[in-house]
Amino acid sequence: MNWWLSIALCLLAMPGHTAERLQHVSPDNARYQHSEVLMTTDVTFTIITTDDVRAKQAVQQAIAEIRRIEALLSEWQPDSEISRLNRSAATSPQTVSNETYRLLDEARKISEASDGAFDITFKSAGKLWDFRAQTIPSDEALAKAVAAIDYRQVAMKSNDRSIQFLKEGTQIGLGGIAKGYAVDRAVQIIRQSGFDEFAVNAGGDLYAVSQGNQKLWRVGVRNPRDDSALLALLPVANAAVATSGDYERFFIRNGRRYHHIINPHTGMPAEGSMSVTVLAPRTYLADALATAVFVLGPEAGMQMIEEQSGCEAMVVTEDGRILLSTGLNDLQKVPVKGQ
Ligand code: ADP
Ligand code: MG
Repeated sequence: MNWWLSIALCLLAMPGHTAERLQHVSPDNARYQHSEVLMTTDVTFTIITTDDVRAKQAVQQAIAEIRRIEALLSEWQPDSEISRLNRSAATSPQTVSNETYRLLDEARKISEASDGAFDITFKSAGKLWDFRAQTIPSDEALAKAVAAIDYRQVAMKSNDRSIQFLKEGTQIGLGGIAKGYAVDRAVQIIRQSGFDEFAVNAGGDLYAVSQGNQKLWRVGVRNPRDDSALLALLPVANAAVATSGDYERFFIRNGRRYHHIINPHTGMPAEGSMSVTVLAPRTYLADALATAVFVLGPEAGMQMIEEQSGCEAMVVTEDGRILLSTGLNDLQKVPVKGQ
């Protein structure tokens, strides 16, 4: 692991534009670009191509796919499979689609790898928080909710794809993984349309495709306390990058910041980091691991990342230090001119 002093951080800090966190190394290449609000996030599709007609078609198919996934997995849509589980899986086993089953299985593996830091049953506590109304749940309500958090109480049977909640009060939410999964599916759709130089960016959770593995994309990591400054540029190709931050959904009360990444052991917002950026082979994995590292805290989180093959992380700690995993040691060498 590599440690930077805050002073090095300041040297790298540079003005940036919120909308241009993802850049291609050849800014003048012809491209088709389209943004759409999906999953309550601005999703931007960028395809390096001169064929706008075909690119538009591919993007429209990708958008339809993301909408389908949202309808399947959203905990806010009453007809989704996840809402059905939340209503009925504590009463009787519920059969789900192959797709939902597989994603729940991946979520379970990430819970195991992170010692329960990532846990979709965080929801029983998560639903007590309302960041718009700025309500802090009572200790009593939180204690009761935390007693129902445990991914091992979600029984999964692969032979009939059934899910059962073994504990009363269990609720699940895929907010820490579904967006990444939707990006992966969109990437697959655009690839199938024959494109080999493109990116899908769902509000910072993104996947960038490059022909021949050249790292032609640059992902800007923002300063968690200054929306207009970037801390670093990560060169990527055929990889996912996702960031979890305490600045996305939060409120401040009596000088304390309350945000949407929940520590499953306390039901309270996780402490120790301002932001966590993870590189991974798949977006669902980057998405969930960023949440997991945030909950584990900088040191334990970094340790977990070092054990995951093909994954790297950059953590901004709550006292402003930057931690980098081994594979990001050459990060300083990235050219930052002209950004
Ligand atoms: P964003 O959706 O802003 O990219 P993150 O990727 O950082 O957010 O994930 C935060 C979301 O994950 C929360 O809004 C919530 O839905 C869910 N979540 C919060 N805490 C946990 C946790 N400990 N385990 C799993 N999911 C969580
Ligand atoms: Mg996440």
